[in-house]
Amino acid sequence: MKNSHSQSILLATLIVVLFFVFSGLSSKPGDKRSGHENKSCTIKIIAHRGAWKKNAYPQNSLASLRNAIKLKTEGSEFDVRITSDDSLVINHDSEYNKMVIEKTPYDELVRFTLSNGEKLPTLREYITEGLKNNNYTQLICELKASGLGKERNIFLTEKSIKLARELNAIKRISWISFNYDIVKRISEIEPDAEVFYLNGDIAPAVLKSEGIKGAGYNYPVFKEKPEWIDEAKMSGVILNVWTVNNPDDMDWFISHCFNYITTDEPELLKEHIKALK
Ligand code: MG
Repeated sequence: MKNSHSQSILLATLIVVLFFVFSGLSSKPGDKRSGHENKSCTIKIIAHRGAWKKNAYPQNSLASLRNAIKLKTEGSEFDVRITSDDSLVINHDSEYNKMVIEKTPYDELVRFTLSNGEKLPTLREYITEGLKNNNYTQLICELKASGLGKERNIFLTEKSIKLARELNAIKRISWISFNYDIVKRISEIEPDAEVFYLNGDIAPAVLKSEGIKGAGYNYPVFKEKPEWIDEAKMSGVILNVWTVNNPDDMDWFISHCFNYITTDEPELLKEHIKALK
């Protein structure tokens, strides 16, 4: 009798152990069961073109940068373009007040202010502002490719890095671009910098093999190819996703432990990260 009781306990223990082993093996990164993993991962918020939306600041303005710093987002993103006379200015679109930036000299562009009265910022002014009273928010510098070809893109890249070095800001800047020549060049000359390729068409392991540290892709890319999330983690590629504004999408990328989530709604994302931890 005693013997069969011991055997039952042994059998039950074995069943419980096997259950845990197999449920663990069948758990996938997207499963709710593995959702607890996000308790141990750190997700950083990047304010997309600064923190502009809630306070109706112009995108890419010094006001939106200062607001991101005030909100203590881990990153504040902005876009860099080059004028016809080689000035580096901060603007998302290729045109500013109906002038094509790369075909217009700086003096003509700055005749028009941003909607809050600010002057169109230069990269020098933007970085300088971003270093003031800020030891937390990383500057996420997007280099916009020129329509004038590879040589112009390499010139823009090298000029931007030279300026970042001159301002002692190299460690405070991460770099992003849709253009592969640009991300390759930054990774060559600043191998310790965090550099993200944005275009979504290269597998993370390939980026790694070419010395590019991060994959920062549009959110549908990762939803369509969730295997790239695991591939990035296995190969040590840093994950960033843009532009995540929908609450359900926020939760999805939080539960998948992305290193960075880029959003126009940093205040909302902050609440979601807090709630899911
Ligand atoms: Mg951008």
